[in-house]
Amino acid sequence: MNRPQAIERMMQIIKHFPGVGPKMAERISYHILRMPVEQSDALVDAIMQARSTMKYCSICFNLSESDPCPICADSDRDRKTICVVETPQDLIAVSKVKDYKGLYFVLGGALSPLDAIGPQDLRIDSLLKRIKDEAITEVILATDTDAKGETTALYLAQLIKEMHVKATRLGYGLPVGGDIEYADEITISRAIAGRKEM
Ligand SMILES: [Zn+2]
Repeated sequence: MNRPQAIERMMQIIKHFPGVGPKMAERISYHILRMPVEQSDALVDAIMQARSTMKYCSICFNLSESDPCPICADSDRDRKTICVVETPQDLIAVSKVKDYKGLYFVLGGALSPLDAIGPQDLRIDSLLKRIKDEAITEVILATDTDAKGETTALYLAQLIKEMHVKATRLGYGLPVGGDIEYADEITISRAIAGRKEM
């Protein structure tokens, strides 16, 4: 027999989650149906709550409950240094590093010709405008250390240097091909301390 329509509908949505294929989508769908009803209600409620309260900070594009986000609103931070990351999750990882006191910018991904993601698909214009308007003196490129992240860092460094602003790249210590999001605090802290001018 075919799967009931309602389950099929859940699977069609869940299979597009990162790292989830059709088989896993099936497992997750049946798992949700086996949950006690108050748990699945809580899941739906948590999603609705997050969707209605989280917004993008208009300055750094971090996801936050307020705009500007708490980091951009913090007057004790060094307002001349920006750390550029690919995603809000990367920002969370870097923000655990206590010795970094600068600000952030979330690019919204990385350049990827194979996936047809070009400069126009990222927030590059907003970044460059902010560097100019806020007279930023250093931009730390903390994109991932995989090929896409490296390409993106090189591309951005070129544009930033044309503005006569210092562009630096996280130093050694981060695993090559890695995602900043999964790096631990000490590794990121060392990588920031050992950053190199591009
Ligand atoms: Zn912000």
